[in-house]
Amino acid sequence: MKRQIALKGLPSLSLSLNVPGFPKSNATVKAFFGYCLQEFKYALKANQVNLIETDSIEIVDVAGDFYLVPCYPGRFTLKEMKVVCEDFEQNHPLGRFIDADLNDQDGVSFSSGKSKLCFFCLERPAIECRREKAHEPEELRSFMFLKMDYYCRQQHEAAMIKKLSSFAQQAILSELSLTPKPGLVDKFSNGSHSDMNYQTFIDSTAAISPWFAELVHEGFSFNDNDLTKALPLIRNIGLRMESAMYEATQNVNTQKGIVFLMGLSLFACGRLFSQTDQFSIEEFRGIIQDICKDLVSKEMTDSLKMVKSHGEDIFDQHGFGGARAEAESGFATVFDFGLPRLAGVAKLNDEVLLQTFFAIAANNNDTNILYRSNAEVSGVFKHLCKNALADFNDQNYSAVIDFCKSENISPGGSADLLAVTIFVWSVIKANGQLGFTN
Ligand SMILES: [Zn+2]
Repeated sequence: MKRQIALKGLPSLSLSLNVPGFPKSNATVKAFFGYCLQEFKYALKANQVNLIETDSIEIVDVAGDFYLVPCYPGRFTLKEMKVVCEDFEQNHPLGRFIDADLNDQDGVSFSSGKSKLCFFCLERPAIECRREKAHEPEELRSFMFLKMDYYCRQQHEAAMIKKLSSFAQQAILSELSLTPKPGLVDKFSNGSHSDMNYQTFIDSTAAISPWFAELVHEGFSFNDNDLTKALPLIRNIGLRMESAMYEATQNVNTQKGIVFLMGLSLFACGRLFSQTDQFSIEEFRGIIQDICKDLVSKEMTDSLKMVKSHGEDIFDQHGFGGARAEAESGFATVFDFGLPRLAGVAKLNDEVLLQTFFAIAANNNDTNILYRSNAEVSGVFKHLCKNALADFNDQNYSAVIDFCKSENISPGGSADLLAVTIFVWSVIKANGQLGFTN
């Protein structure tokens, strides 16, 4: 192969792994090689090496995983390209397992004459240990596979953290931007709010987003069987998010509800994906339920508590547990009423999101509404949402918007549940389970 490329008069770059013994590849090695290859290509491109990827060769084989790509040297000398390869090996945490090589125009390996240290003892040149068979092959192999496996796990976690954080941000921004919404802040209206607008939400979303990664990471690294112990960890991060929110909004509570619900969701996903690659609704809900076991009775029926939150006041008056009850149920409203509306939806749009919102709002005892009004107003609001959902037209839609305006109410709890629904939909879609029916 090197010769075929050499026949075209081009140098080539290759990547392989130093696996002693046989077979030289297995599931772990293959996964590790996959990560390395991606990193190698980025390193070459970042250094502006002109790869001819259409002529590249990738072999995954028990004889050893292998990649070869021809390149135009352009303004680079072979020596300069070799330095890029050497830097890649040196900077990679497991670079001593990796051979990133350069072959010249004749297909001959271009050497800089530097010798590598043995990856096992890190004391002597690799070539000496190999020649003298200084280490037991089985010992070398299990050492190597253990390191590779750990590396792959870390990479998997890093990739999931990025993906889940971006889904959370996307879900919050999609809910915020959905326009027009009844009583809520959207692109063109402050709804029933005098102290916040679209920009306030952009500011607070930007302020809380940097913590999403930490929440997923906590889920990945949590290793206690008692999931109720996770709640203080999630709250610890949640409190920091709230203070960042207040700082960004000059003390307006824009997103306390979603901080709690999305915090749970991100942690639960981290926990779930630390154990499996496959998202499961039952498992996700089970984790949330375990974290929030007896939450309402523990935190809302405390009659000795001196200062009560809005939610706790509403619970005393109406018996509805708001976000805590929703969490304790494993997001029952999200999964029973919100998510079914998005089943089979390949791409989100305003219409399907509004229907999803109405499906949630028609079935949710929104404590944000109850706090500003009473059970009767809440009942009428739910009824109007039901109508709008049954016959989705401008008139029924406007009726909900007008009612929120006249009663000065805002279904913020349902808006938070819409954001959670969008988040779960994105996770499921990315996991390749689009036609879910649950
Ligand atoms: Zn050695």
